[in-house]
Amino acid sequence: MDAARQIFTFGFDPFTLGGLLLLWVAMFLIIGGRYFIVAGFFYGWFWVWKREREDWRRIWPTRPSGRMLRTEIFWSVVTSGVFAVSGVALGFAATQGWLRVYMDIGEYGWWYLPVSLFLLLFLHDTYFYFTHRWMHASRWAMRHMHAVHHYSVNPSPWAGFSFHPLEGAVQALIIPVLLLVVPTHPVVLLLFLIIMTVTGITNHLGYEIWWRGFARHPVTRYWINATHHSLHHKHFSCNYGLYFTFWDRWLGTEASGYPELYDQIQSRRPGTQAA
Ligand SMILES: [Zn+2]
Ligand SMILES: [Zn+2]
Repeated sequence: MDAARQIFTFGFDPFTLGGLLLLWVAMFLIIGGRYFIVAGFFYGWFWVWKREREDWRRIWPTRPSGRMLRTEIFWSVVTSGVFAVSGVALGFAATQGWLRVYMDIGEYGWWYLPVSLFLLLFLHDTYFYFTHRWMHASRWAMRHMHAVHHYSVNPSPWAGFSFHPLEGAVQALIIPVLLLVVPTHPVVLLLFLIIMTVTGITNHLGYEIWWRGFARHPVTRYWINATHHSLHHKHFSCNYGLYFTFWDRWLGTEASGYPELYDQIQSRRPGTQAA
């Protein structure tokens, strides 16, 4: 069994019903586990342990109810199950030899590692931006797919994967497609998955974790953060991106007050309350 196949199937045979089910369970436990570990860490640090010390970073002064947090967790667990189906598809594609995952770094060179990481992030961001805009433009898709995510008007880190299963399916589809097209080293894939998870969760953190000037710096202004995405949850018709602000800036959908809000949060002093 080659290494790529081993990575995506954990040794299970996706051509038997038992192997398929075990692969789904393994993927579900890994995807759900990473959600609870990363969201639990950010929730524990900012919302519980360092709650008073970090309060000045809070974007909006109000907090979601306990019931809302439970709703976000429920839908995130459901979405983990949907993402696990995509994981099974990866295992199947790897068994068939369809994935462009390569093991020898020398095959494309070291320079290609950061380039492929950027390419995966950019393509994923592009797919996310346009499918997300479509879900806001279509009354049907908004009602039957995307409304679940927007129950969270003032989200918590638990909202990171809080999607309706239909939206989860749309989002999960892109990962196997990317690996069918973009030659990817497993280390880059791992980094990509880590960035995906951490960004999905920190974009809903409710606290701004980056530094002063981040929203205006010639490089960092292109990276989405909790303040940027909180404006999407507040106003709906702006800031559709996932990682980068490129598409929002190119197509004129970035919230006009974003850098001002960012600066206003960062101008507070530690120890003061969010206002
Ligand atoms: Zn969101
Ligand atoms: Zn939305």
